[in-house]
Amino acid sequence: MDKSDHTYDGGCTCRQVRYRMMSKPLIVHCCHCRWCQRETGSAFALNAMIESDRVRLLEGEVVVIDTPSNSGKGQRISRCPKCMIAVWSNYAGAGDALRFVRVGTLDEPGALPPDIHIFTASKQPWHSLPPGTPAVAEYYKSAEVWSKESLARRAALPSTNSPTAR
Ligand SMILES: [Zn+2]
Ligand SMILES: [Zn+2]
Repeated sequence: MDKSDHTYDGGCTCRQVRYRMMSKPLIVHCCHCRWCQRETGSAFALNAMIESDRVRLLEGEVVVIDTPSNSGKGQRISRCPKCMIAVWSNYAGAGDALRFVRVGTLDEPGALPPDIHIFTASKQPWHSLPPGTPAVAEYYKSAEVWSKESLARRAALPSTNSPTAR
């Protein structure tokens, strides 16, 4: 575990599920795809990608709901069994080794601003992207965007493909 990191706590609305990210994430995506818009009922989704073994459940359990995804391979959304708020997802493309933690469920979501805006081709027309943060019309190559440290962390994972969310 990286010495420089601190932890990030979060949970669902009814507080039955509480979790802790044990380090900073690999990357934070702000995804403007239509699928994320529909799933959140909002303009975009904010996902912190992190190794699954760096996410600990502090309280409660999650139920895992198989949900269709754009790739056709599906995503597995972990939700509180009581209030059904989604706390993280796994995508088939990235395997179970990576989780996409929903940044809005953190106690301090402002601690993890987006590193990149993706699928901006379908962003809501009224939403202006901030200058200074990378933005791509669809997806990107992680070698060109991720920090060296994050690439090394991913390389240390067992059998992950490119962590494409789609
Ligand atoms: Zn709950
Ligand atoms: Zn999306």
